[in-house]
Amino acid sequence: EFFMANYDIVIIGAGPGGYVAAIYAAKNGLKTAIVEKGDRLGGTCLNIGCIPTKAYIETAKYLRKIKFMKELGIEVKDFSFDFQKASKRKDRIVTKLTKGVELLMKNNNIEVIKGTASFKDNTTIEVNGEEIEFENCIIATGSKPAELPHITFDGDFVISSTEALSFDKLPESIAIIGGGVIGVEFASILSAFGVKVTVLELMPQLIPGMDSETAEILKSELKKQKVRVLTDAKVLSAKNGVVEYELNGERESIEVEKVLLAVGRKPNTSGLNLHNTDIVLEKGHIRVNENLETDVKAIYAIGDVIDTPRLAHLASREGIKAVNHILKIEDNKNIYLSCPGVVYSYPEAAFVGMSLDDAKEKGIDAEEAKFPFTANGKAYIEGVKNGFVKVVYQKNNEKLLGVHIVGANASELISECAVAISKGMNVEELSRVIHPHPTVSESLMEAFHIAAGYSIHI
Ligand code: FAD
Repeated sequence: EFFMANYDIVIIGAGPGGYVAAIYAAKNGLKTAIVEKGDRLGGTCLNIGCIPTKAYIETAKYLRKIKFMKELGIEVKDFSFDFQKASKRKDRIVTKLTKGVELLMKNNNIEVIKGTASFKDNTTIEVNGEEIEFENCIIATGSKPAELPHITFDGDFVISSTEALSFDKLPESIAIIGGGVIGVEFASILSAFGVKVTVLELMPQLIPGMDSETAEILKSELKKQKVRVLTDAKVLSAKNGVVEYELNGERESIEVEKVLLAVGRKPNTSGLNLHNTDIVLEKGHIRVNENLETDVKAIYAIGDVIDTPRLAHLASREGIKAVNHILKIEDNKNIYLSCPGVVYSYPEAAFVGMSLDDAKEKGIDAEEAKFPFTANGKAYIEGVKNGFVKVVYQKNNEKLLGVHIVGANASELISECAVAISKGMNVEELSRVIHPHPTVSESLMEAFHIAAGYSIHI
């Protein structure tokens, strides 16, 4: 039995970009197939990214809470941490969720084709020796961990996030090269698990590009968790149990059991035989226009394989946008303006839109207003001792441009800010929205109060 060789839409890659696009296309009546080369659906996000890391983050959270319990009047006399058990729970969560995606494919009559897709020409792909023709195609092949010219993965000493998620046994010490989102999240997890962690970041701040004050708090909080954080540190080599680096012009080195190389990711394009098509690559990414169309009509690309922020929720949204374009359904022109980003470290950091520096760079006359969590009752009850909400807005019309949160519940608080930015709301109208008391979310309202010219609790 061969595949039905003709589809309205063929999607390559079943990560959060591809599988969401498939469901949306199928629900809109398109005959849909999805090709996935991995054993399991869900892509990087479900299998080796967002989900397993957050499962570990949950374990780390409780390990930290044990220390806080004393303050609450709870004496925990004795406790132990079974890493294998935590790891198995993570695996169970991943399995359950990938099975869920399989079920969604089935329930939506989406043909799942297991195999590697490659292009024969602008209208045909080949999978397992079979040709499949399509009316429309979406490339959602994602990304893989990047290496440095002088430091490459060896599967044992120098590893990627993928191997760091499948330790049989925790290492005693680890050097994390790269203080981006992935590096910082692993630093937070592994330090809570009792691993001696050193983070080496080339740039002057963690998470380069992020609001610098937020990044400073992340750094100081990581240090409180006994993570050694070295910024402006240029790693020279990593081999034979030793990492050599340059810091303030001095050559230094540390001995570690493992090295997690987390210096970014690069698009998965190699197996696709794009040379058989007219698709154009730009710096390794598939080039697309504002409609997410590649240089070939009816072939779209979304998610980590294109040059937009590498986020699961954005990949999904791009998938829906591409399908909307195929179906000629009106969609937002700019979905990037209000796309939030989250760092699930301890504490969490979340942001949407511009920082003050971004606004200045764009020549926008902007201001910021900040409300600290220490002045919020609920945050105080929850034991939050640091962090803030910062809102950036345009001076002349008070339009909200960006929000930066570090501390309690940042990941949950950011969504209302994304709504506000996508609706072009201003700080005056936002300041009038009633927030329930007591909640951490009141901090947002209070920051809007300040921005609107009347601070209440500070
Ligand atoms: P992917 O999820 O990478 O999926 C691509 C799929 O295509 C894969 O299943 C692959 O096997 C398949 N494929 C590739 N080539 C072919 C081919 N030729 N034929 C058939 N199939 C093919 N993002 C967040 O938003 N929040 C987080 O908390 C978060 N945490 C992360 C933690 C880690 C450790 C990592 C590595 C990433 C994290 N990310 C997070 C990023 C997120 O995982 C990606 O942005 C997201 O998975 C991109 O989705 P995608 O659909 O573009 O690609």
